[in-house]
Amino acid sequence: MLRRTKIVATLGPATEDPKVLDKLIEAGVDVVRLNLSHDLPEVHMKRAETARERAKAYGREVGVLVDLQGPKIRTGKFKGGPVTLQEGDTFILDADHPLHAGTRERVGVTYKTLPQDVARGDTLLLDDGHLVLWVDKIEASAVICRVVVGGELSDNKGINRQGGGLSAKALTDKDRKDIEVAVAIKADYLAISFVRTAEDVNEARQLLRAAGGHGGIVAKIERAEAVENAESIIDAADAIMVARGDLGVEIGDAAVPPIQKRLIRLARTRNKVVITATQMMESMIESAIPTRAEVSDVANAVLDGTDAVMLSAETAKGKHPVAAVSAMDRVCRVAEQEREVVRSRHREDLAFTRVDEAIAMATMYTANHLAVKAIAALTESGATPLWMSRISSGVPIYALTSHAETRRKVTLYRGVYPIAFEITTSDHATLNREAMDELRRRGTVREGDLVIITKGDLTGVLGGTNAMKIAIVGGQRDS
Ligand code: PGA
Ligand code: MN
Repeated sequence: MLRRTKIVATLGPATEDPKVLDKLIEAGVDVVRLNLSHDLPEVHMKRAETARERAKAYGREVGVLVDLQGPKIRTGKFKGGPVTLQEGDTFILDADHPLHAGTRERVGVTYKTLPQDVARGDTLLLDDGHLVLWVDKIEASAVICRVVVGGELSDNKGINRQGGGLSAKALTDKDRKDIEVAVAIKADYLAISFVRTAEDVNEARQLLRAAGGHGGIVAKIERAEAVENAESIIDAADAIMVARGDLGVEIGDAAVPPIQKRLIRLARTRNKVVITATQMMESMIESAIPTRAEVSDVANAVLDGTDAVMLSAETAKGKHPVAAVSAMDRVCRVAEQEREVVRSRHREDLAFTRVDEAIAMATMYTANHLAVKAIAALTESGATPLWMSRISSGVPIYALTSHAETRRKVTLYRGVYPIAFEITTSDHATLNREAMDELRRRGTVREGDLVIITKGDLTGVLGGTNAMKIAIVGGQRDS
C-alpha cells in the first residue's frame, strides 16, 4: 500500500553524508526543507543539489522547500557565556545595547522597535517559552522586565510576545536576499515565516516572481494575527504550514491542537495544501523510538487530513534521522487505514465553479464507490490532482505530466504521485492505453483492474481537463 500523507524532512548537519540522504529517500522522504535560519547559501545549494541527485538515482521525485528565516526577534550574545535568571530578578532587554555584550542584567535585541511595541503588563517569552518575563516599564531603549520563570539564557534566543502584536514585517532584508537564493536553488516551494496578512503573502509572491522563481508560496501560521486572518492568507497562498513552535509560544500551547484542526479543515475546503510541523518526533533527536504521545500526534494530524507532516531538528541535527522518517512513515500508513480517512462527504454540498473541478469531484466520488485501483490524471499544472486530493480516498492519484515542475509540486499533495509522461498522440484510445501501460509497468495496476483516466480534449492546455474515462487495464481499446 502506498502512503498518502507526505513527509517533509529538514536537511542539516545530520544529513550531510549522501549515504544518510540515500537512506532518508529510501525511508520515504517526499520533500526536503532547507531552513535559511541556519547556514550559508552555498551550503543550502549543495544540499538541494545532492538531494535531487540522490532522488534521481532512485528514480524518485523529491520537492525542495526553502524556508525563510523571517523576523524572528532574538536576544544578542552574552559576554561571559550563558547567564542564569532567577524568579523575581530584574532583567533588561535593551534595543541600544551592543549585540555581543550581554550581561546578567542587560542584553541587546535584534529588533530595534521592541520598546515601542510592548507596554507595561505584557508577557515576553524567551527561548520558546522556557523563560518568562513580565514587562514592568519602558525607559527609552530599555524594556525593564521582572523574571517570572527563570532559567539559563544563552546567546541568540527567540523572543515572542504572548498574544502576538509585534509589528515586525514578515519579510526582512535578509529574507529579500534569500529569495534570490531560493531562485538559484530552483525551490519548488518558498515558505514565509511570521506571515501576518494576505498582503505579506502577495508581496513574497511578487518578489519571488520578479526574481524569476516559479515555486509555490507556503504561508507559515505562527502568529496570533495569522490565525485571525487565516482565510485570506490561505486564499493568497498555495499552501500553509501549521508552525506549532512559534504559534504555541504566541497563543499558548493548549490553543494549538484545536487551531491545527481548524486550519487543516480550512485549507482543504479552500483547495489549498497544508503541512503540520514542529516537534512531531521531538524525542527522536536523542532516542531511537518515538514516544506514544508523538505517535498519537502524527496519527492525529493524518486523521485531521493534513497533506504532509514535517520533521525539523529530528532529521537536521538529530541522532536518528532515518529512524525518524521510518517512524513517521509507519504511523501515517496505519492511520490512513482508518475508515474516516478513506471515505469523504467533503464538498458534497458545495456548488462547483469549474469544469476541471467537477471532473475531479466526479472522479473521486466514483473512485470511492467503485472498485477502482488507480486514477491517472493527465495534467499540465497539477490543478486537477489538487482538486482530487482534497477528497479523502484510499485510491492513489497519479499525476501524469511532462512538466518536471508540476511533478515536483505534487510531491506535497496528499495521495498524489508524480509520473513523467509525454503525450505523443492525439488519438484518445492510444493515449488511454499508454497511460495504463505506464501504470502497469510500475506494477501499480494489473490486467483487468479498473482505472479512471482524466484529461482534456486538447492536451497541453492549462485547466483543460473536461473528461473522465473509466477503463479496464488490458480491456477493449475504444475510448
Ligand atoms: P521554524 O518554524 O522551525 O522556522 O521556527 C516552524 C515553527 O515555528 O513551528
Ligand atoms: Mn517558526
